[in-house]
Amino acid sequence: MSEPEESISPDKSNPTSLSPQGRNESRPTDFIRDIIRRDIETNRFGGRVHTRFPPEPNGYLHIGHAKSIVLNFGIAEEFGGLCNLRFDDTNPEKEDIEYIESIKEDVRWLGYDWGDRLFHASDYFDQLYEYAIELIKKGKAYVDDLSPEELRQTRGTLTEPGIESPYRNRSVEENLDLFQRMRAGEFPEGSRTLRAKIDMKSPNLNMRDPVMYRIKYATHPHVGDKWCIYPMYDYTHCVSDSIEGITHSICTLEFEDHRPLYDWFLDELGIYHPQQIEFARLNLSYTVMSKRKLLQLVKEGYVAGWDDPRMPTISGLRRRGVPPQAIRNFCERIGVAKNDSVVDIALLEFCIREVLNKTAPRVMGVLNPLKVTLINYPEDQVEMMEALNNPEDASMGTRWVPFCRELYIDRDDFREEPPPKYYRLAPGREVRLRYAYFIKCEEVIKDENGEVIELRCTYDPNTRGGFAPDGRKVKATIHWVSARHALDAEVRLYDRLFTVPNPLGEDEEGDFLKYLNPNSLTILTNCKVEPSLGEAKPGDRFQLEREGYFCLDSKDSQPGHIVMNRTVTLKDTWAKIEASLKEA
Ligand code: ATP
Ligand code: MG
Repeated sequence: MSEPEESISPDKSNPTSLSPQGRNESRPTDFIRDIIRRDIETNRFGGRVHTRFPPEPNGYLHIGHAKSIVLNFGIAEEFGGLCNLRFDDTNPEKEDIEYIESIKEDVRWLGYDWGDRLFHASDYFDQLYEYAIELIKKGKAYVDDLSPEELRQTRGTLTEPGIESPYRNRSVEENLDLFQRMRAGEFPEGSRTLRAKIDMKSPNLNMRDPVMYRIKYATHPHVGDKWCIYPMYDYTHCVSDSIEGITHSICTLEFEDHRPLYDWFLDELGIYHPQQIEFARLNLSYTVMSKRKLLQLVKEGYVAGWDDPRMPTISGLRRRGVPPQAIRNFCERIGVAKNDSVVDIALLEFCIREVLNKTAPRVMGVLNPLKVTLINYPEDQVEMMEALNNPEDASMGTRWVPFCRELYIDRDDFREEPPPKYYRLAPGREVRLRYAYFIKCEEVIKDENGEVIELRCTYDPNTRGGFAPDGRKVKATIHWVSARHALDAEVRLYDRLFTVPNPLGEDEEGDFLKYLNPNSLTILTNCKVEPSLGEAKPGDRFQLEREGYFCLDSKDSQPGHIVMNRTVTLKDTWAKIEASLKEA
């Protein structure tokens, strides 16, 4: 058996610049890829590269999982290898078909394909059982009668060795008999376990006779009621990797201390032995990432579901309007390293903007409508104004936007008493309407409470297209929609889910609920959008000019009832952060 090597030192700088259109334009380099390149050079696995993504189907995938997916599938793609999707389903009580389906959908949506290599750890339960018998026969595993509580008490601590179980030295025959009867369902839950016989004095707690099997009378989502004993993760994972011929078993840092056990099982069984390599998990500011915490947010109703657009789940990001390319770019940009760190959520937002800027068609929509009447515009006239779909990309073409005597502009684009440096509309002032005319505010109409309800303006017919023949300039261009043609829309504005960068605190176990952002969702029900949006489909992404990037909500948007989610604002905070880092 080849001895796994120590990981070589990680490369912390990961210079990758990825175009939002294509993958791997400049190949990422990191310590994992270095190991793989060296293994190919030395023909260690016959030159093969075979990875796997092994989610436990006990929740929806989050952006941390995306990092692992992009890494595993990305490496396979890059080195001409394969990547399996494997459900690590050893915990029947917490697992569910709903999760299995959502995981498959999310991996596919991210752009990856496992071909015909969709596996379940439970597919290997028979083989795992046979291997357990082998270990018993070798004197390397035994049935223990200690209760879960007694197991805990005799395990020892980091400073104290564990205590050997009185059942540790049972004969092979007795162990075989008891293990077979465990499987046959003769004993109650929690009454017995199968343990590996390693070393109760090992400084590594994982090596102190870890449990391999426990009794559980639970129906398994994939294999039903066939089993009443279930193998533990550590035993299952290495054997599954071995059976599938995985070359590089890439996992997160918390498994570093489990690697000796991973290696022990495979060496004792004398079977094919992949290389486990650990990397630091992704942590993201202003959110939580553990499935347990996310489940709590869903179960206790703090969010509308796993796919709530505020959630860091893949399904939440998808519903929010994030393109899969932005997630792939983000994962490649943060790279992989061996030390834990927290990534600023502003970087994710930057990656989202970067892709949407290139790909999202521009449209006009007014979030807080204020009526404008053009008093000198013919009552029954309608003009079609040609508008660019993307000023950065002429190939995206143009569209026609209707213009008439009654318009809506955003309330924010008018001030009765404009402060200094406010150049937008004000009494007596002239501005440009995007793709249309100059207009000048002549009169302000208020309701009985003194609130502005309408502006009466004149337009200059000579400024069609946005320029005055006399060379007269205006200092602002604002967006608008035709009041006669606009469609009603509901717009949902999302903000960060938590008010502080690290809601869990230093110990990762704090009362994160007290940092939930009460303003993480604002619903605007009275918005007006240009009529071209009538043809948009759920999920379609747009830039509402001057407002941000939005998508049609995939669940609630319908013809006749447009619902839009704001994906991100236009304001790039990441560029500022990067600039200040460079200065420092
Ligand atoms: P969580 O802690 O969120 O519950 P998990 O590790 O229990 O996650 P799994 O379903 O076991 O979730 O994870 C599947 C794969 O994704 C594993 O290889 C795991 O290491 C990886 N993974 C999970 N969370 C992250 C993360 N935050 N960053 C990178 N990889 C992750
Ligand atoms: Mg896990």
